[in-house]
Amino acid sequence: MMKPMQPRATTLTETERALARAVLIHGPISRAALTDRLALSPPSLTRLAKPFLDHGLMVEVEDRSGSIGRPARPLDVAPDLASFAGVKLTGDTMHVVATDVRANLVAREVRPLTSAEPIQVAGEVAAAVRALGRNDLAAVGVSLGGTVRERRVEYAPFLGWQDVPFADLLEAELGIPVVLENDLVALAEAERWFGLGRDIPGFVVLTIGAGIGYALVVHGEVVPSPDAGVGLGGHIPLSATGPICQDGHRGCAQAMLTSGSIAAQVSGALQCAVGYEEVLALAVAGDPAATTVVGSAADALGRFIGLAANLTLQPAVVLAGEGIGLFSVAEERVRDALAESRDPRAVEVKLYVDDSGFTAWARGAAAVAIQDAFDHIRFDGPPRGLVAGV
Ligand SMILES: [Zn+2]
Repeated sequence: MMKPMQPRATTLTETERALARAVLIHGPISRAALTDRLALSPPSLTRLAKPFLDHGLMVEVEDRSGSIGRPARPLDVAPDLASFAGVKLTGDTMHVVATDVRANLVAREVRPLTSAEPIQVAGEVAAAVRALGRNDLAAVGVSLGGTVRERRVEYAPFLGWQDVPFADLLEAELGIPVVLENDLVALAEAERWFGLGRDIPGFVVLTIGAGIGYALVVHGEVVPSPDAGVGLGGHIPLSATGPICQDGHRGCAQAMLTSGSIAAQVSGALQCAVGYEEVLALAVAGDPAATTVVGSAADALGRFIGLAANLTLQPAVVLAGEGIGLFSVAEERVRDALAESRDPRAVEVKLYVDDSGFTAWARGAAAVAIQDAFDHIRFDGPPRGLVAGV
């Protein structure tokens, strides 16, 4: 086993980092758009871009706009720069993807976790990453439900982890840089970069499933918070008459919207064990107990969306998570409850449903690793400083 690597130094200036990120996310992008976006003069941009071009990290692409005059020579990241891996861990499964530098999917693995023991999880994740068959991996991003501080998982309830140095464990297995992130932050990163929110400056990401997840994008950036992963959206009161959550709140988001609570309510009513997807199917088929429970959940979801839009002043919401089937079977009721919670003079809240499953979450983890790699570009080594860690 290799020794865990030390956290890498950042040598880029703030302006160089901003340039690298702008080209990564918006490339190919014209020099005029870059000087506008970064408030730079054209000669400053030329000077700043030079080392990226010299090191093969960026390329000048042919301008196909057909405009007359000086060629615009838009900048882009070098397309074959490196591969990245993204991993989304749930309590019992790992979703692993390989992507290119643009976070486009190139390979995918889904494997069960046979144990929640951190060392063993690190070994199983490393095996799945190797099975992707990429020999040009520059870094790995790992996302999971819980709080992440620096390179440690402080608390991950679905895995039963407390204070686990998971980035170091996995780096020791793989020998390439590993970046950890809360899964909602990583998903929001995916949505704003290449997902449903890519053209929307501000939106809320709301996920339902085993838990309730919440993240926020404002001015095109994911809002950072030391509390990402604490689950602060999970216990917001949504119904005065709902069931109780494990903390004893009546009708909070967890009690109303988690798949476990919804399945338990219908199982109780029917006096037999019914799974979440079965509850949705029963509601569509007109079963009275399932219809009542799903209807109340839809009301609660509409209220939650309304609250989120009202309090953040962002009029768009991306819905995701493995329980999002609730929205498709009860969309009208969700929209009615949302309309009731909005002032009629307020703009209409746009809803976007990401039903691509955990692949989007894993791509989000890769996106976090890609941006981290760009933050740690070095110009003092050989060309292609991006893959210096391999
Ligand atoms: Zn609660």
